[in-house]
Amino acid sequence: QPLLVWFRRDLRLNDHPMLTAAVQEGRPLIPVFILDPETEEIGAAAKWRLGLALAAFAESLGAMGQRLVLRRGPALETLRALISESNATGVYWTRAYDPASRARDSAIKEALRAEGIEAQSHPGFTLHEPWQVETGQGGCYRVYSPFWRAVKDRPVAAPLPAPARLLIPAAWPRSDKLDDWRLGAAMRRGAAVCAPYQHVGEPAAQDRLAAFLDQKVAGYRAARDLMGEDATSGLSENLTYGEISPRTIWHAGFRAMQQGAAGAEHFLKELVWREFAWHLLYHFPTLADQNWREGWDAFPWRGDNEDAERWRRGLTGEPLVDAAMRQMYVTGTMHNRARMIAASYLTKHLMTDWRVGLRWFADCLTDWDPAANAMGWQWVAGCGPDAAPYFRIFNPAGQADKFDVDARYRRRFVAELSRTPEPEAIAYFRAVPKRWGLDPAQPYPAPLISLDAGRRRALEAYEQRNA
Ligand code: FAD
Repeated sequence: QPLLVWFRRDLRLNDHPMLTAAVQEGRPLIPVFILDPETEEIGAAAKWRLGLALAAFAESLGAMGQRLVLRRGPALETLRALISESNATGVYWTRAYDPASRARDSAIKEALRAEGIEAQSHPGFTLHEPWQVETGQGGCYRVYSPFWRAVKDRPVAAPLPAPARLLIPAAWPRSDKLDDWRLGAAMRRGAAVCAPYQHVGEPAAQDRLAAFLDQKVAGYRAARDLMGEDATSGLSENLTYGEISPRTIWHAGFRAMQQGAAGAEHFLKELVWREFAWHLLYHFPTLADQNWREGWDAFPWRGDNEDAERWRRGLTGEPLVDAAMRQMYVTGTMHNRARMIAASYLTKHLMTDWRVGLRWFADCLTDWDPAANAMGWQWVAGCGPDAAPYFRIFNPAGQADKFDVDARYRRRFVAELSRTPEPEAIAYFRAVPKRWGLDPAQPYPAPLISLDAGRRRALEAYEQRNA
């Protein structure tokens, strides 16, 4: 009798503990993906990119003579229907650590086990299970540096090979057609605009890792902050859909470090920021949408407002902030330093609640990750764990002088700054909704607020709150 292997954010064949465990049972496998209400709710860009990931994964399975069965509906009901259609006796999946998935998965495990179905969850999404890394006193780390020290020497099991063979069931349950799900429906700019910037699927992710370690890691430490350079790995997009495992990246980075590659340790440290974010979200589920530090509920954040709308549209009149926002709209991603600057500008110069920005990022990023996004926003806003203090306010002009010295990044994404704009800068105007009424021939807007006045207003609000 077959086993259902329920794929979620683990769309790969290599280093897949759940798949390896299922193969070891020696039974036919039915790979399944369920578009359940939780998955339906993700942002437009992430949902569109999920569609690309599913198509690529179905192709990888197809090359092994397998299929990916697609079904839509509440997960438990759908699994029950699949079990009865296929006579499966067990369901295996890779653990997820966000609050909604955890609640769903424990309810499913309990219900299926009560019905005599074997329900097993396996690791694979993080380097370590969130309950495994504990401080000397017990409990989880709340500060990154000691977390890094705890993780850096902790053994990470070697990546598992892809299964050589997947046994095929005697009969296949019905599958939806991926196109009918219209995962890109809310992402009208998707195919035309963002697609060239995506590296979709497991082979692409592996190539990306190899190319990064071969060509970029040595210069990573110095160049990773330069927004106009392509100096980072770009792997966040692949990690989001599980097209590559963090263990695979860890081991490859570790080998590079042992061979003396200068930037490799720094790269591993960044990977561990992802790990830290997921461990935090596991232990503090409210990190996702509530001020993590006490006292911040009383801060006079502005709710959504017209300035925030101009921020979303890349029309603040601050070239670096606008370049960042337009980069995200056109490419589905944004440079890490630009994320910090754009987030700081919204929460400090525009005094707007970080959750307004978090939601827009969640709608526009193809690497959207609920843990890294929430941690990043709370870090910048000053209300998160191990956060930058609120009075540390990024100055976009100063940041541009340091990290976009030749203005390459700003010119690449802001058409109004050049007489002969770059293709990406023009693409932005083609991509935005017509109702925004934007035209590259319009003059570049004046700043919403002077950097100095915005900074003073934010600091005064902060001081009053502390008075
Ligand atoms: P590299 O520099 O090549 O780093 C390697 C890997 O380390 C990344 O792929 C990523 O998995 C991890 N990593 C690097 N920096 C961070 C970081 N600061 N926090 C957590 N993990 C990190 N990252 C997301 O994956 N999804 C998000 O939705 C997201 N939202 C963010 C929002 C804000 C406000 C901020 C400040 C940061 C956010 N980040 C998010 C973190 C970071 O910006 C991206 O992970 C990084 O830009 C991805 O590029 P890369 O893969 O080339 O990274």
